[in-house]
Amino acid sequence: MTKKRMLFIVLGLLLLINAGCSGSNESRNETKARAKTETASVKTAQGNDRLPNIRILATGGTIAGANQSKTSTTNYKAGAVGIDTLIEAVPEMKDIANISGEQVANIGSQNMTNKTLLKLSKRAAKLLASDDVDGIVVTHGTDTLEETAYFLNLVLKSDKPVVVVGSMRPSTAIGADGPANLYNAVKVAASKEAYGKGTMVVLNDRIAAARYVTKTHTTAPDTFKSEEMGYLGNIADGIYFHNDITKKHTKDTDFNISKINQLPQVDIIYGYQNDGRYLFDAAIKAGAKGIIYAGSGNGSVSDEAKKGAVAAVKKGAAVVRSTRTGSGVVTPNPDLEKENILASNSLNPQKARILLMLALTKTDDPKKIQSYFEEY
Ligand code: ASP
Repeated sequence: MTKKRMLFIVLGLLLLINAGCSGSNESRNETKARAKTETASVKTAQGNDRLPNIRILATGGTIAGANQSKTSTTNYKAGAVGIDTLIEAVPEMKDIANISGEQVANIGSQNMTNKTLLKLSKRAAKLLASDDVDGIVVTHGTDTLEETAYFLNLVLKSDKPVVVVGSMRPSTAIGADGPANLYNAVKVAASKEAYGKGTMVVLNDRIAAARYVTKTHTTAPDTFKSEEMGYLGNIADGIYFHNDITKKHTKDTDFNISKINQLPQVDIIYGYQNDGRYLFDAAIKAGAKGIIYAGSGNGSVSDEAKKGAVAAVKKGAAVVRSTRTGSGVVTPNPDLEKENILASNSLNPQKARILLMLALTKTDDPKKIQSYFEEY
């Protein structure tokens, strides 16, 4: 072979190798890009590759409620309608997400137990860990919706959107608010902007942080309010986020649902004129490991209730003061702190109970427990 010919062959080979390399770089990038979109929206049974996959976990409530009368919005049966019917009632959801659903429970949320709460949370955690799921919507009765939402906010270890939704009017009522709320919840769960915001509550065109929202009215559709701290955003066809939550949540908490199989008994005692220590004694006797005292004003504790609280702490229970006023921070009180009676920060009694249950799965050190109330 002449030198010239050898040079041509070597040059040719170099060109081929180079072309091969850039070709494989390109295809590697393409594969990476495809993998990225695939994790964001993996095919489901109904599968549309371009849409995110949203799983609806149904637990019952008025959103799944039915009544004989179309004009009555009370005295209906909560949790009467199954997940398939809920999905079929809002076919428009399929234009914005691949929807699949499962029935975790079908109850009025006043009957939500720790056992069902754990079952729901573990199922949500499992789904969130899967590449096949981009976001979760939980349908729930409104009565205790904020408790479930706050629990999920503290124990799930994912940035993927989790939205809890309910309705105030049963599915059979004129002006039922369930379909629009469900559609909006799916819209938020399917949105990229909703990533990393903690568990959200969507009703009445508003997006609220589970940490701050509370039910404020017995029957009105605009019952869920987050007035003191503000909403995360609102929905008006589009999704408009305005705020972020500053309290730690999901990946930044000490609680992981995969490690929690049981929750301790924590009871709530309502403070009122002439209340007494016997309330605390009864709770301890019934097995309470923690007590939330829904005190008057800034978590005030009557002298008689204080006797009960001090005795409960001596027996090894954790006692936390919250407030029955509905808003505001319960500030530390040095006299009560000396007795290891803690303060709930701005958590209302029912959410303080959720946090205290979780705190007690980790520690019985009052200082550590108090720090959870400041951080979460
Ligand atoms: N009792 C019902 C529940 O919480 C009320 C509702 O969903 O609005 O399940």
